[in-house]
Amino acid sequence: MREAMYYQLHGQSVICSLCPKKCVIAEGRTGFCRVRKNIGNKLYTGNYAACSSCALDPIEKKPLYHFYPGSLILSLGTWGCNFSCTFCQNWQIAQASPSTRSVMPEQAVEMAKQYVSKGNIGIAYTYSEPSVWYEYVLDTAVAAGCAGLKNVLVTNGFINPEPLLALLPYIDALNIDVKAFNNEFYNTVCAGSLSSVKRTVELAAKASHVEITTLLVPGLNDDMTEIERLAQWLAGINPNIPLHFSRYFPNHKMDVPPTPESTMTMAQQVATQYLDYVYLGNMSGEDGNTYCPQCRQLVIDRSRFNSYLVDQNKCPQCGNIINIIGEASF
Ligand SMILES: [Zn+2]
Repeated sequence: MREAMYYQLHGQSVICSLCPKKCVIAEGRTGFCRVRKNIGNKLYTGNYAACSSCALDPIEKKPLYHFYPGSLILSLGTWGCNFSCTFCQNWQIAQASPSTRSVMPEQAVEMAKQYVSKGNIGIAYTYSEPSVWYEYVLDTAVAAGCAGLKNVLVTNGFINPEPLLALLPYIDALNIDVKAFNNEFYNTVCAGSLSSVKRTVELAAKASHVEITTLLVPGLNDDMTEIERLAQWLAGINPNIPLHFSRYFPNHKMDVPPTPESTMTMAQQVATQYLDYVYLGNMSGEDGNTYCPQCRQLVIDRSRFNSYLVDQNKCPQCGNIINIIGEASF
């Protein structure tokens, strides 16, 4: 166990200030995340270097479509979460206690370096919530950055500004879940808050490459006026932030039917009025292609693994610069 960062003494307890929940944790107890534990009025992190999943994944699977397209990334996950989403798609590792193996930061970096010849660009902290893996992610990201590797965070964005700002200089790209654009959904379905997640997106977009994912669940967050407000807010930060709508399938404790494909396409149409790049995920026949927002020319064909971008990611037809970080490696 490692001593945790970001906590204060509070009488006979400690207050964890890593995430907006600010759990007051009594001696011998853990916070909501089940990971951070008070032992003798010191806060310890129970998942440092505890790796539950490890795989070399396509970057598109994170999903990141505008960051080194076609590359691979060593993806690591742990356990624990500061949300308790009833529709959790990764609940076996996030909400249960999976078996783990120890992968110290320097081992993770060595592994990532070994895969570079296979197309690996770095390390993604994903599968479970990396906010509650904070100390390990920070140490590993610093070491990976020194080794010339990229760091990617796939997160729910529920973290306080101080720890976020301390981590962001080492993070090259983030996919942040905006689970709904209404606070009631965050309160009742996730045990979180929308305002904290919005703040994370706004801060992260100033520092790193950001893409957003919204899992559309029928009747809960698929109202088109709500989707319009989400797209308007994102466009206010930057209209070229890619937005991924992901199709919901029954999972964990939620048992509503899958999101109709028509809802998905409608959401894409609504959001495209404000945003340059809107993608649909978990859909049959969805190509995930990137089109130039100016002239609609196909610029990245993900079904054929082909990029048509010309010098420094310009559209071959109209010369518009497509917001892509790094070269495509198809
Ligand atoms: Zn164009």
